[in-house]
Amino acid sequence: MADIIKLLPDHVANQIAAGEVVQRPASVVKELIENAIDAKASSIKLIIKEGGKLLIQVVDNGVGMSATDARISFERHATSKIRNAEDLFNLDTKGFRGEALASIAAIAHVELQTKPEAEDVGTHIKIEGSKVITQDVTVTPKGTSFAVKNLFFNIPARRNFLKSNQVELRHITDEFHRVALAHPNIQFQFYNNGNELFNLPVSNYRQRIVNIFGGKTNEKLVPVNEETQVVKIEGFISKPEFTKKSRGEQFFFVNNRFIKSPYLHHAITSAFEGLIKPGHFPGYFLYLEVDPASVDINIHPTKTEIKFDDEHTLYAILRSAVKHSLGQFNVIPALDFEQDQNLDTPYEYQKKAVELPKVEVDANFNPFAETATPKKVSTNNSVNYQKPSTKGWENMYVGLESKVGKDTNFSSVTFESDSITSSIFDEDTAPVEVTTTTFQLRRKYVVTTIKSGMIVIDQSRAHQRVLYEKFLKDITIKEAVSQQLLFPLVISFSKTDMNIIKEIKESLINIGFAFSKLKEEEIEITGVPLLVAESEVGILIDQLIADYQEDFVGDSFSQTDILAKTLSKSLAVKTGEVLDKDSQLALVNDLFACKEPMVSPFNKTIYVTITENDIDKKFI
Ligand code: ADP
Ligand code: MG
Repeated sequence: MADIIKLLPDHVANQIAAGEVVQRPASVVKELIENAIDAKASSIKLIIKEGGKLLIQVVDNGVGMSATDARISFERHATSKIRNAEDLFNLDTKGFRGEALASIAAIAHVELQTKPEAEDVGTHIKIEGSKVITQDVTVTPKGTSFAVKNLFFNIPARRNFLKSNQVELRHITDEFHRVALAHPNIQFQFYNNGNELFNLPVSNYRQRIVNIFGGKTNEKLVPVNEETQVVKIEGFISKPEFTKKSRGEQFFFVNNRFIKSPYLHHAITSAFEGLIKPGHFPGYFLYLEVDPASVDINIHPTKTEIKFDDEHTLYAILRSAVKHSLGQFNVIPALDFEQDQNLDTPYEYQKKAVELPKVEVDANFNPFAETATPKKVSTNNSVNYQKPSTKGWENMYVGLESKVGKDTNFSSVTFESDSITSSIFDEDTAPVEVTTTTFQLRRKYVVTTIKSGMIVIDQSRAHQRVLYEKFLKDITIKEAVSQQLLFPLVISFSKTDMNIIKEIKESLINIGFAFSKLKEEEIEITGVPLLVAESEVGILIDQLIADYQEDFVGDSFSQTDILAKTLSKSLAVKTGEVLDKDSQLALVNDLFACKEPMVSPFNKTIYVTITENDIDKKFI
């Protein structure tokens, strides 16, 4: 048999390697900025056009390269950062593989201009798909500029795979945040399509965080400081009352490198245990310094994972450092979920909201004595119903619920007083569709009879489904009713959040929001959808941004879907809320008028049917 094994030509090998190094424009941004940092730049400028598809340029004032180095930097395994394998265990640079430039040059049009301080003139090189097009002498300031154009021009499949410019820009912004947070001693500027997005002066960690995430962040930060023989920890955690439903602002750096470590993440969240609502995440910006010899960064090509020699010790130190800060800064006693939502509301609104909430938390609440004020469900037909502000209280119920399971037996269950007047199964004559007999079980289920037996409906999921379909319709036909606010509501957001709000603005208007102003870090809301209480607006929009960020969607269909899902989840009645008779009935009717009454918008079962037969079997 003839020999068939051949060595791949360099440009093909580079293209293949590029698949690992460059997934999207954000990966190029990361590699170029890291190179600039390794080159000891004190000022770095990032210029993006069309979500990085047209142009990614990074300009630094670092050490620059000689003509020979400039040419050789595009070769695979060309690096100035390590000389032998030993160096791998003592890394103080971001890069060391010598792969990035070769990979990027294989799949884009790259233009490099560079000059070391000591030289009079610099070098200008143009490379397209690994082929050097020109190399000449040029006049350029000290430092280096890489311009990467037409990413994936020679790999159409990869290019087509890229998301919308907005989505790619968001990935780039994420990378930018990570690297800018890790290096407050470097000035960063970021331009997108000619607009300045960030101009971050040299500062300390705290100022850098605030400069990126907006002035409001400052008051949310609690410092963390701990120094042991193994590790030095510094940075900030968010106060528990500012936790979010997204993992957005969680940054963990080891030796000034952004790192993902689920294990150490757990150390932080576990320190918050009991202080934050379920489903919420603490924000953190933590900077760890460890001996470079005690970590192995070399386990992942894009280098956001890390292996520590002694992870268990780190876990314990980190957890106790965070706990210590929470205690020391007196954060714990200040906790009050019930109250927090109004803190950001202007005075007039706080006054307006003093009407007693219709559902109250009762510490002596007994789930079997259904005496709390029944609640009306807002339905398709009764849209003018205002949902009372009950945010947070369902969490109080969580603990009670588990108690219910433990120390009761079935015989002690009593149903709402007049609800089972007609016995459930004697209705041979009952119509096939839902009858009018309903009762609420454990403030969680609505039970109703049907001809063959009964159905047990999860009240919260059912209401989610009803609202979800309503909002989808509202957004599509654009006929939602809005309630005008007496005074506009002003809410601040970070620049990144504002970008998302701008993206989903149309859909927000379609469901009934009205805005008078969208400023750089602030919105002024003049109208809200009928079902939304004014005091809930801030939380709701935060939630929307979080959900939207997690899904990273680009097309308008998914945008609508996320919006409808978020709203339905936030506004639906919760487990633990008492529903009055009319509401139970309205909920059942509305549910079965839905297109998909079986499953919630989150794919959860809404109801189960229990037939007379099922029950008969239990009596055999
Ligand atoms: P690595 O960073 O892993 O060494 P790269 O392919 O990213 O590999 O870069 C190759 C080499 O090019 C670097 O080791 C460095 O010597 C040089 N280089 C790249 N970018 C710059 C820059 N902005 N300024 C100075 N030198 C640079
Ligand atoms: Mg590099």
